[in-house]
Amino acid sequence: MIGLTVLGSTGSIGVSTLDVVARHPEKYRVVALTANRDVEGIFRQCQSFNPAYAVMADSESAKQLETMLSSTELKTEVLAGIENLEAVVAHPEVDYVMAAIVGAAGLLPTLAAVRAGKRILLANKEALVVSGELFMQEAEKSGSLILPIDSEHNAVFQCMPSEFNQGLERVGVRRILLTASGGPFRQTSLEQLEHVTPEQACAHPNWDMGRKISVDSATMMNKGLEVIEACWLFHTSVDNIQVVLHPQSVIHSLVQYVDGSVLAQLGNPDMRTPIAHALAWPERIESGVSNLDFFEVARLDFEPPDMDRFPCLALAYQAVEAGGTAPAVLNAANEVAVASFLDGKLGFTGIPKLIEAALEQMPVTPASNLESLLAVDREARFVAEQTIATLV
Ligand code: NAD
Ligand code: MG
Repeated sequence: MIGLTVLGSTGSIGVSTLDVVARHPEKYRVVALTANRDVEGIFRQCQSFNPAYAVMADSESAKQLETMLSSTELKTEVLAGIENLEAVVAHPEVDYVMAAIVGAAGLLPTLAAVRAGKRILLANKEALVVSGELFMQEAEKSGSLILPIDSEHNAVFQCMPSEFNQGLERVGVRRILLTASGGPFRQTSLEQLEHVTPEQACAHPNWDMGRKISVDSATMMNKGLEVIEACWLFHTSVDNIQVVLHPQSVIHSLVQYVDGSVLAQLGNPDMRTPIAHALAWPERIESGVSNLDFFEVARLDFEPPDMDRFPCLALAYQAVEAGGTAPAVLNAANEVAVASFLDGKLGFTGIPKLIEAALEQMPVTPASNLESLLAVDREARFVAEQTIATLV
């Protein structure tokens, strides 16, 4: 039996992960589940999966969960706080860790799992954007295997030769083509973008996801974060990555080789496919995803992204170019901007303005150690919060 910890089990990726796991009770055992404050959600998951541990972000939620569990036969131990998140990923009975907390909040527990040498099923792209260099160094040291869950990166992984770690040139790869749906506002004019609401931004045409990544998809910051994520995962530079708009979200990404071949991974837009792939790799297991029906898909369209209507993508490139701590600043400012937009405190087109202001104000320093990265993350959030008042 493979022992599994699911960080962020009550979220969109967490729920899909448990859906796949439930189809293979003979293969996977849930050692720990973790959530922010969704006590009801994690209680129901404890009833279904009987984990040894359930970790809540704060002690008040943990107390509520403990009370609810005390009226059952379950022996799940309830814990709280970041130290316990780090403990349940490094636990000796844990083999695989699904990293599915949203945002930089997932960085410390995910890094703890990397340092403990576990197999990482990496959904939490923000962790890699903030600390890519350190993250990959630690994985190399501990021998931790990082398998991408992000559908594009999972697709690229599936289309890559197994020795891609030696460098893309050596294995004959010319470039990575990252597909993007374009989100709900692919054809919305700049004037209309000024007035879009959180509900419209969260109504993604193809994917059902958490609210933060849904807004990121609407601004296309999601693709910017994914370009940075791809650079780290596949040991390459942005020059070898091209973003291709593909509104149907059927081709999840492609790899182009020097001989002219292009390999693509296709499937219905359902995160249970990459989750099942990473859980079973190098084998294959059932995921519950229905067969792709080509006659229903009928056509596949492609177009270049429009940087003028989606300045967040350009800002991500700018942060990569600046290097060092700039991607951490980009991420922190984006998290503040998205939360403010969802709270109705910032307009949709204010999101890139806030990020740009934070990138301008924060000096770029080397991103070599965790303490300085965490300090930059905090400071960039502070700068972004201060800037909101000047934008509205
Ligand atoms: P979500 O908001 O649905 O779920 C987030 C989970 O993290 C929840 O369980 C929540 O309780 C937990 N959490 C939030 N803040 C926390 C904190 N401060 N401390 C501890 N736990 C906390 O998000 P999601 O859509 O499932 O996305 C999770 C991650 O996966 C993100 O990094 C996202 O970019 C990535 N991802 C998601 C999808 C998708 O289809 N949803 C696709 C690709 C990548
Ligand atoms: Mg993605």
